[in-house]
Amino acid sequence: MSRKTENSARLFNVAKGIMPGGVNSPVRSFSAVGGTPLFISRAAGAWIYDEDDNEYIDFLASFGPLVLGHADPDVVEAVRSAAMSGTSYGAPCRDEIELAEIITHSFPSIDVVRMTSSGTEATMSAVRLARAFTKRDMIVKFEGCYHGHADYLLVKAGSGATTFGSPSSAGVPEDFTRSTLLARYNDLDSVERLFEKHGESIACVIIEPVAGNMGVVPPGEGFLEGLRSITADFGALLVFDEVITGFRLAPGGAQSIYGVMPDITCLGKIIGGGLPVGAYGARREIMELVAPTGPMYQAGTLSGNPLAMAAGIATLRKLLDGEQRYKALESTSSRFVEGIRGIIKSTGTAAKVNRAGSMFTVFFTESDVVDYETALSSDTKIFSKFFKGLLEAGIMFPPSQFEAVFVSTAHSEADIDKALAAVKAALS
Ligand code: PMP
Repeated sequence: MSRKTENSARLFNVAKGIMPGGVNSPVRSFSAVGGTPLFISRAAGAWIYDEDDNEYIDFLASFGPLVLGHADPDVVEAVRSAAMSGTSYGAPCRDEIELAEIITHSFPSIDVVRMTSSGTEATMSAVRLARAFTKRDMIVKFEGCYHGHADYLLVKAGSGATTFGSPSSAGVPEDFTRSTLLARYNDLDSVERLFEKHGESIACVIIEPVAGNMGVVPPGEGFLEGLRSITADFGALLVFDEVITGFRLAPGGAQSIYGVMPDITCLGKIIGGGLPVGAYGARREIMELVAPTGPMYQAGTLSGNPLAMAAGIATLRKLLDGEQRYKALESTSSRFVEGIRGIIKSTGTAAKVNRAGSMFTVFFTESDVVDYETALSSDTKIFSKFFKGLLEAGIMFPPSQFEAVFVSTAHSEADIDKALAAVKAALS
């Protein structure tokens, strides 16, 4: 192996002594793919650099937020300028209004929005809100979907939970998950069966409208529409977790692309421009239940934080300025994925690529990946070799089979050419 990793290895050793597994979020540890996690020293545009001065074209994008790439000059200037005026007030500020306006203008399903500090808080609060609104307890989630790490949502969850073989976490009392019903993604019958049995007690169905946490799995034809009509029939709410897909697939998220309006939407990642943010929003009648207007309590010391608001606003202003950035994301991603599909074919690799806009996953399996079970049929050992091959060639993919690869507006044609050459070498 040609890359130097001494500095990352040394830092990882120190980190392991004082942080669980040496990391502050499990998938970063590389334990699913083996080897030493890279300690990052800096990043700019499409590029990320580690402590051993290796450089990589980054397709991890901090697991999704960095749709403009790293350290976009406008975002950096917005954060710098906000910081000069103070980092947190515990009182409202003007930028909260601007970000809320961008969100409500972009999502017709959202009249009113509440900011949080993470996606986990957004989904947790959305479920609480659905329960408060319907006065029911049960929720339906899908196998392989990840909605953050709230106790009752860590049931057959995707992302790191699946990567580490603990899709249902230790430390979660059975009582807490008793109200969580599991359905199969892209399988309306499985949802209908749950509603036949428990329909009167179900507060909401929560779903990633395009799954990103078992790897990318788009919804089949009629699936989201079906969920819309089942939930409406039973007076349950439909919650779209668009923490990844919001502003990534389109300004109005997956709901605008598939033409299905949820009752509650969860956002995160891109709306914080790389700073910690989440949000949940809905029509006024539902959001009026949220404190202080209504009886559903939810709060946060750093919610609506001025630095995060500034980064989110700068990111979204740039992204939403005309259509050219979404067009560029689409054409770069399509070129990249069609290139990979061509290489898969010419090398006779058993792999399938699922893509939705600027997010995709290469699954090392013969079968079409349409749900959690087919995603799990992937050969994670081959993925791990693929991942390491790319890393050696200076291409950073997410360190797990069950994550999405993210293309940003910072990726150039030359970056994609270099990445395709690395994919070819790795698969050959
Ligand atoms: N929902 C989805 C769809 C996610 O992908 C994630 C994070 N990957 C979350 C919720 C949780 O967000 P956070 O990590 O910011 O708590």
